[in-house]
Amino acid sequence: MDPIGCRAHGLCADLLPELVRLDEWGFPVVAPGAVPAALATEARRAAAACPALALRLQR
Ligand code: SF4
Repeated sequence: MDPIGCRAHGLCADLLPELVRLDEWGFPVVAPGAVPAALATEARRAAAACPALALRLQR
């Protein structure tokens, strides 16, 4: 997650609540570590939906 680019829309937490929660200011806190395979599709969807292009998956 790019903390500079993030605009605290909260969309990522809506789309991937298993791995993303919002802090008290509405900025996402992403669970550390690798995305579980069972959530890969949802993670890609959340990254693609970020309107600020601030959420990216790493290989
Ligand atoms: S969807 Fe993008 S801009 Fe919105 S809170 Fe998540 S990372 Fe930030």
